[in-house]
This record gives sequence, structure tokens and C-alpha cells, in this order.
Amino acid sequence: MTKHSRRAFLASTGAAFGGALGLQSLSAAVQANSSPYRRPKLKITDIRTAEVRVHGLQTHVRVYTDEGLFGEGESTDASHGAASIIQRAFRPFLMNQDPLNIDFLWERARTFGIFAGAQAGQYVTALSGVEIALWDLAGKALGLPIYQLMGGKMRDKVRIYCDSAHHHADDPKSKAMFEQIQKMGFSAVKIDVDDARNPNRWDRVNWTANNREMDDMVNEVKFVRESFPKEIELAVDGHGRFDMGTGKRLAKAFEPFRLMFFEEPVPAENVAAMRDIRQSTSTPICCGENRFLRHGFTDILEQRAADIIMPDIQKCGGLLESRKIADMAHAHYVPFAPHCVVSPIGTMASCHVCATVPNFLVLEWHWIANLEAWRNFVQEGEIIKDGFVELTDRPGIGVTMNEEAARKRQVPNTTWFEPTKQS
Ligand code: MG
Repeated sequence: MTKHSRRAFLASTGAAFGGALGLQSLSAAVQANSSPYRRPKLKITDIRTAEVRVHGLQTHVRVYTDEGLFGEGESTDASHGAASIIQRAFRPFLMNQDPLNIDFLWERARTFGIFAGAQAGQYVTALSGVEIALWDLAGKALGLPIYQLMGGKMRDKVRIYCDSAHHHADDPKSKAMFEQIQKMGFSAVKIDVDDARNPNRWDRVNWTANNREMDDMVNEVKFVRESFPKEIELAVDGHGRFDMGTGKRLAKAFEPFRLMFFEEPVPAENVAAMRDIRQSTSTPICCGENRFLRHGFTDILEQRAADIIMPDIQKCGGLLESRKIADMAHAHYVPFAPHCVVSPIGTMASCHVCATVPNFLVLEWHWIANLEAWRNFVQEGEIIKDGFVELTDRPGIGVTMNEEAARKRQVPNTTWFEPTKQS
């Protein structure tokens, strides 16, 4: 019996010390006070989806229960076909299950799908959306924000970096974009250096950069670096386009700019190549948005292939899997800077994880070119203030979709959280 409940018990049985309380009343008092907490009993009754396109494709997932509560999640990037995977692969065993056993349900989905692609890609991405909806549901059922269920927060607000939509020196919109980023209070910004339209490219397929392309990329970084005050950090994304030689040369050429990180200089699947680049430069190397599950980060960490890891929480397995990946990285003294291109629902869900891990560095935000959609997507309005997202004490994720605004970005010819036809 807790101190609190013991006090309540003594108060409620005060008469017993006077000898006036009967046995039946005493039993009722003990019963009432010895179990102050009652776990909600819920059953999953339906799973529904809606597809939205803003920065890429997002699949929104809702898990419904027999008590009328539902939880909301979001998956992205590799979410093509997620609606079908959720209905055909996950729904049969999720129905009638207790939604509060989140990790159990996640593990079952994973192990059931071993021969169906449960190691990565669309399968894990679809599962990420469901898992996030289960966490939202658990928070709502228990009356607690998700960060509280994950061990409590280490910080009250989560630092966000802005992925710039315009940054070329010859783009007339760049100056206004840089001013807006500063006005919004961001302490870090990211640009893309891979440019498929660069007229100096010899080949449409091969990304070995020649000297003129290299100069263009270095000048681009120099222009952006000099457009912001020193205290605003700069990251650069290669989108995994280049070969190892180009990646090495670029990382070396970027050294004078003291970048926050150089992201995916080579594709993510060859960890040894990423490690070779990292060992060749003082520019911090970041990777992970195209890796899945803890298993996708084991080699990166053990081979010391990255200075910073950047799992995509709406893709790599969900909130708890990301938390576990962050913890693995922490044991290697590697910071956690998640990739994030989703709506305020997924972004706020990511913030719950970022708030709970010691090695959190910064979280991505990619909707500056879609500000109207961003600010109207949830009923709470703008969630980024002065470059940070402040965690709320509302249960679950803590933001609620504004259906009218969200539907403006619905993918044509798709359904909108349509109840599943019972077969
Ligand atoms: Mg990237």
C-alpha cells in the first residue's frame, strides 16, 4: 500500500479505531484503498487509414476501441501500400487485442512477417504508423502524455532544425527564406547539395562529381554559411547520391565550414563505405533515415560509421523502437538527430521520444514550403515556437487533427478513415 493510499485508508477507517466499524465495512474500505489504480480494459475494434501528400506521402492511422477511444499515428516516405499492409497483414491479429500491450503487439507483427518483409521497408513503415497510434491511445486511456509513459522527460522543449526550401545563390527566394528561418527562431538549418539539374553533370545516372560540380557544391555551402550568423548551425544533405570518392572529397572540402553534419554522402546500405568516409574527415557524418529497426543501426554503431544517427521515427519502427535505437547510440556516445518530414501529429509524437533520450541533438522539420498546411493541420495550431516544440501535458501525443484542413491534402482517389467492412 502506498503512503498516499495508506493515509486514505486510515482516514476512511478512522471509526475502526473507536471499535465502531463492522467487518463488512472494513473489508470494503480495504478493497477500495488497496487498489487505487485500475487499468482500463480495452479491445481493438477497428483500424482505419487516410493518405495525405504534403512533403511526400503520409499515411495516417487510427486504432479504435470498444470504449470509443482511438489513437492516431502517422507513417511516411516508405508508406506506399501501408493502408493495404495494415488491413491485410496487421488487422487480423490486432482485432480484439488489448491495445495497451504495445510492445507485444509490435513484436507479434514483426515475427509474423518474417517471410513478408518485416525486416525493413514498407512493412516496418506501416507498422510504425500503427505503433504510434497505439502509444497515443495508451496515453489517452491512462491520462498521461507519451513521454511520461516512456520514463519521463529530460527536457521541456525539443530543438528543431529547419530544412530550407530555397537556398541557391541565384534563387531570388533564398534571401527571404533565410530571413524567415531566422525570424522563426531556428538555431540550425539544412540544405541539399545534390543537384540533379546541375548543367556540369556528365551523366544522368552516375553521381561521380567532377571538379566543376564539386566547386558548385562548395560555393553553395559557402553562400548559405555566410548568409546566417555563426550561431546558427548548418547541416548538408547528400541524399545518399554520391560514390565513395566523391563523398570523401566533399566531406574534406566542407571541413572549413564546421558543419553540424554531412548527411548520407553515400547510400545507407554499405556501412563500410560510410565508415571509410567518416574516418577520412573531421566533418561529422550523419546517416540512418533509410535504415530500419535496431538491427539497421547495429552495424553503423559497431563499425563507428557515423558521428550522428538520424532514424526516421515514422518509418524505422515507431516510438519505442526509436527510443531503443537512441539508447544503443547513447552507449556508443553517438547523438540522436531524427529525420522528420511529417505533419504536426507525427512531429509531436517524435518530440515525445526526443524529450526522453539523453543523447538527443536536434529534430528535423520540413514543412516551411507548406506553412499553411502545417499551421492548420492540428486544432492546436502552430506547435513550433522560437525554433522549439514545447511538450504538453495533454494525454497521448497531445495534438488533434483538424480534419477540414488535413483533407485539403488528401491523396486523390483514396478513402478517409473509412470503417473497415466486417468480413
Ligand atoms: Mg536526408
